[in-house]
Amino acid sequence: MADRYLSFTGTAPGRFLTRRLGLPQPAPLRRWSRESPEFEGGVLLLTAGKSELSGLEFPAPSEAPAAVLLDATGVRDVEGLAEVHAALHPVVRSVAASGRVVVLGAPLDPADHHQAAAQQALEGFTRSLGKEIGRGRTVNLVRLTDASAAGSTLRFLLSPRSAYVSGQVIEVGRAQEADVDREHTLNGRTALVTGGARGIGAAVAETLARDGARVVVLDVPAASADAEQLAARLGGSALALDITAPDAGARIAEALPDGLDVLVHNAGITRDRRLANMPAERWSSVLDVNLASVLRTTDALLKTGTLRRGGRIVATASIAGIAGNTGQTNYGASKAGVVGLVRSLAPRAAAEHGVTVNAVAPGFIETKMTAAVPLFIREAGRRMNSLGQGGLPVDVAETTAWLAHPASGAVNGQVVRVCGQSLLGA
Ligand code: NAD
Repeated sequence: MADRYLSFTGTAPGRFLTRRLGLPQPAPLRRWSRESPEFEGGVLLLTAGKSELSGLEFPAPSEAPAAVLLDATGVRDVEGLAEVHAALHPVVRSVAASGRVVVLGAPLDPADHHQAAAQQALEGFTRSLGKEIGRGRTVNLVRLTDASAAGSTLRFLLSPRSAYVSGQVIEVGRAQEADVDREHTLNGRTALVTGGARGIGAAVAETLARDGARVVVLDVPAASADAEQLAARLGGSALALDITAPDAGARIAEALPDGLDVLVHNAGITRDRRLANMPAERWSSVLDVNLASVLRTTDALLKTGTLRRGGRIVATASIAGIAGNTGQTNYGASKAGVVGLVRSLAPRAAAEHGVTVNAVAPGFIETKMTAAVPLFIREAGRRMNSLGQGGLPVDVAETTAWLAHPASGAVNGQVVRVCGQSLLGA
């Protein structure tokens, strides 16, 4: 499962050899750690066009800024775009390894096609810079309506926690920023993670517990031992339940009489076969775990009010649901269905229940699921992204924690890829 190529290119002979042979040289990514939770280098604030934002405050940069934040919200035409070039051209080389570039844009104005063209241009700019910037650095675009609602999003994107999120366009709407303890953002909140006994789900449970949540690890009865062990370590509890049970929603509500704040739909399975060779059972089992049970439990937990106001739903899509994948018509359909669910439910859930609904869409993540992929396909999956490596379960977990954050109320209906800017479906 380990990425030996990445370890090899991190050694002096490995660097020498791969450079001489013209092979890819993925940079080791800097991730969150307790000893070093933030970047040291500070943030360089730049502006293109007339800025309408105020109140953006970050530590000033040292020689090599850890991050550059470009406010391009005021760019309304092609001349304004020249200022994007003028602002970033002289500094882009100086951004530290594993650093960040975040571009702030504005929503597209349907009444002004010059503004819409210029703002849409920022998307192509961001994605292109993400592909060429290298050295483990990421580039993302945040479309803002209200800067005061974007704090949690900018803190995430400008931190080591977003190591494998690149080439994304994230829309942030309006909402009051909740006042929270910056270190234990989920204090006093209960989070349920389906499929939490191992892989990405276990990392999500750990990360939410790190941030202060009381975690309930749900998994099938066969995985009870792992679920219980993890829950005990995190000071939470385990719930042995097959999420496809017709009464799963009711059983969860019963197990959580005091309610729930964060619902993470992570349980998922693959049963790959080309459509021509796929028996109906392979189709229905994947659709049932990955999509139907997500719809059923979401409906039940909203209806019973188990998911409290201020709650967060984070569902798990996949880049296979966006780009499609050979042998995965069932899986691709189920994960695209999750995207549809998120987009449709998000505005209604916010209006009627005060709950946000978002999805993470992982790319190639190093887990048991991907360790089972044949070697050459696995190696292609690892390298075919701007960061030249697979992500780790913790990368999906950190993204989930940002979406679950009490101050992320303005992030709703988003599908955020955690894929190192994969070439698939980009
Ligand atoms: P995994 O197979 O390692 O873990 C999945 C967990 O879900 C297991 O603990 C399993 O027991 C549990 N589960 C399966 N069916 C269940 C059911 N009916 N009820 C309750 N629990 C059930 O998988 P992973 O790689 O950690 O993936 C987690 C999620 O991320 C899945 O939704 C997967 O589709 C998605 N994803 C993974 C990748 C990747 O590269 N690993 C990429 C894209 C999307």
